[in-house]
Amino acid sequence: MPEYYEVKRICSYLREAGIEGSTIQDLELLPGSEILLKQLPLPQWKKRLKNERILSIQTKAKYTFIQLSRGAMVWHYRFTGIPHMEGQNYGNKLYTIYNLPVDGSMQYCRFKLHLDGDKILSYLDTRCLSDIKYYPNTRIDELETYQKLAPDIGHFQVQPFSIWKKQQNKRKRDLKLELQDQFTAPSGIGNYLACEILAYAQLNPWLSVAQMTETQYNRLCQAIATVKQLCEKKATYRWFRVFNQQKCAFCKQPVLRQKHRLNRSSQTTHYCPNCQQEAPR
Ligand SMILES: [Zn+2]
Repeated sequence: MPEYYEVKRICSYLREAGIEGSTIQDLELLPGSEILLKQLPLPQWKKRLKNERILSIQTKAKYTFIQLSRGAMVWHYRFTGIPHMEGQNYGNKLYTIYNLPVDGSMQYCRFKLHLDGDKILSYLDTRCLSDIKYYPNTRIDELETYQKLAPDIGHFQVQPFSIWKKQQNKRKRDLKLELQDQFTAPSGIGNYLACEILAYAQLNPWLSVAQMTETQYNRLCQAIATVKQLCEKKATYRWFRVFNQQKCAFCKQPVLRQKHRLNRSSQTTHYCPNCQQEAPR
């Protein structure tokens, strides 16, 4: 699924395409829009969005927030959604490790926003899993979703170990779950970012956060900073050490793929059983 950096790149692409300052002239509904836009009856969506001006677009964690003149829209792409400006490709600005239609395959187009200046914003979603909401007469910073999300990895700041430890003692969970929690900083981390941060930190995904030592915590913070830098530098994924890799890029041992021990429905965790051993080091 698009994680923090993909969501941010999509936002920059839409900004560069000039959607800020544009007015929505019409909402064109295509098959699947009834699933994506289930929050309101479709005629309501049309009525609400017509003549709305897009004032600004921003992201927090994995969410996109669009400030409109009479309300706010929130997009959560989840596993399958992506907006596309007709006639403008992502080129080398965005890649994907999943089946996202980054090439703009119109067969997955669920609705179109016709903007002034003949611009068309198409919303593509392969399986209609995106979550799209509209809030009338609301500012982005007043939205509950926006307020509840912890500061994201793009704004990561190291907390002193003693403060972090105090919060963790109340939560009995492992490092993998902790990293993917959107309500604890840094947010915006999904499965692949969590796997890579743990690989760079050489920490076991199932390590209990309550038992972490200061040395392990420092390694974790350093790894978050390293991964953040790598993501900011390049849109490609050649820096991966374990995710979708057969062998660990550090030690060349086969990478293990495991479902979470408690939460079997969660995504598969990729890690190196040699570099990321369970016994604390
Ligand atoms: Zn290894």
